[in-house]
Amino acid sequence: MADQPIIYKTKEEIELMRQSALLVSKTLGIIAELVEPGVTTLYLDKIAEEYIRDNGGVPGFLGLYDFPNTLCMSPNAQVVHGIPDDKPLQNGDVISVDCGVLMNGFYGDHAYTFEVGEVSPEIKQLLEITKKSLYLGIEQCCAGNRIGDIGFAIQSFTEKHGYGVVRELVGHGLGRTMHEEPQVPNYGRRGKGKMLKNGMVLAIEPMINLGTAKIRQLNDGWTILTKDGKVSAHFEHDVAIVDGKPDILSTFDFVDEALKKKKSKV
Ligand code: MG
Ligand code: MG
Repeated sequence: MADQPIIYKTKEEIELMRQSALLVSKTLGIIAELVEPGVTTLYLDKIAEEYIRDNGGVPGFLGLYDFPNTLCMSPNAQVVHGIPDDKPLQNGDVISVDCGVLMNGFYGDHAYTFEVGEVSPEIKQLLEITKKSLYLGIEQCCAGNRIGDIGFAIQSFTEKHGYGVVRELVGHGLGRTMHEEPQVPNYGRRGKGKMLKNGMVLAIEPMINLGTAKIRQLNDGWTILTKDGKVSAHFEHDVAIVDGKPDILSTFDFVDEALKKKKSKV
């Protein structure tokens, strides 16, 4: 398929996109409060759908390419695109929650991987390093840099820790459609690829595996898993390039707040 053109956004459009991203951030904050052993991903999915609709948005994934739910819920060895189900989460699991919203004609698309109860130090580190790699990628989102600079930052940092960087799934441009040009791989070479310019809005989303980078797909046509069955982590932000610099439209503040509140209750 021929490359679609990159659609640059005006500052006014970026403000609308900030609202879409913010609704996703708030939804993830609600989910953060509720993630615990015994809860099902299908229950969390219903809560998210209600919250999004109550706040003037429409679930962005529901029906998109025929996806059946509001959230992509990918526990443990699932990388992304997991379908919510009625299996309770267990202590020591991790659950990647990816949420999309359509509001004011623009999409938000943003993800966090949560710990369920107490996880092993090895997995805790995978989550920390993956989250950190997201911000290293975002730091590269400056006008004049190239797409490869983002991937290089994410890949070099995570591979240094011995992790596998998923190749087949990538970040993307975001706007009036969920997936726009350019593709944003989580691997790459410095100075290579399309040039970054003001008005680009990118979903940056490292998918990092504890073991091999290799993946497989379940025959549900959706769920992506690690080939070796080891845990995978996924964090995603929506980033606009404004006045030459990255402007993160989404935020983990609501998640952080909810997790802090939960901790203080224990
Ligand atoms: Mg996403
Ligand atoms: Mg995305």
